[in-house]
Amino acid sequence: MLDLRRFVRDIPDYPKPGILFRDITPILADPQALAAAVEALTEPFLDAKIDVVAAAEARGFIFAAPLAIRLGAGFVPIRKPGKLPFDMHSFAYELEYGTDELQIHVDGVKPGQRVLIVDDLLATGGTMEACCRLLEKCDAEIVGCSFLIHLVQLGGEARLSPYHVHSVLSYD
Ligand code: AMP
Repeated sequence: MLDLRRFVRDIPDYPKPGILFRDITPILADPQALAAAVEALTEPFLDAKIDVVAAAEARGFIFAAPLAIRLGAGFVPIRKPGKLPFDMHSFAYELEYGTDELQIHVDGVKPGQRVLIVDDLLATGGTMEACCRLLEKCDAEIVGCSFLIHLVQLGGEARLSPYHVHSVLSYD
């Protein structure tokens, strides 16, 4: 079994002092690691009858399309403002400084469709919580949230309650 942790590069003080950035580009660059990451993100949901994989830009997109293909599902993008061309739902959320906003097409997910949301990393959970709120606006059934990396001490998992949170690599 490939140890994916070996392919996560730690960059201190990026993008600002005090942040330890977990760089996943070495996973993306390695064929075996990339395949193992997609498999590990997918594995708990193989029999979950997922209709749609949703993800927020930019790093969520990288994994969402191969997961969707693996699960026999479609892919729906969640984007920053100004990127989606059709009618959309929006959700604004708090950052450490200021606010951010994510959007989804109103018809991206049909009511009752079973959705898996994927992202590279769970930190405070603000991004994934916004994704959940958008999918709730679509009346989707959120089956789970799948992450490659979980920074456990930031407490993001609690914000995603009651949804099923799966993570491949946990860091204390
Ligand atoms: P959050 O909304 O706080 O859970 O942050 C999640 C998003 O921010 C993910 O999409 C990550 O790409 C990015 N992110 C947050 N913290 C880090 C970190 N320490 N290393 C790499 N990416 C991070």
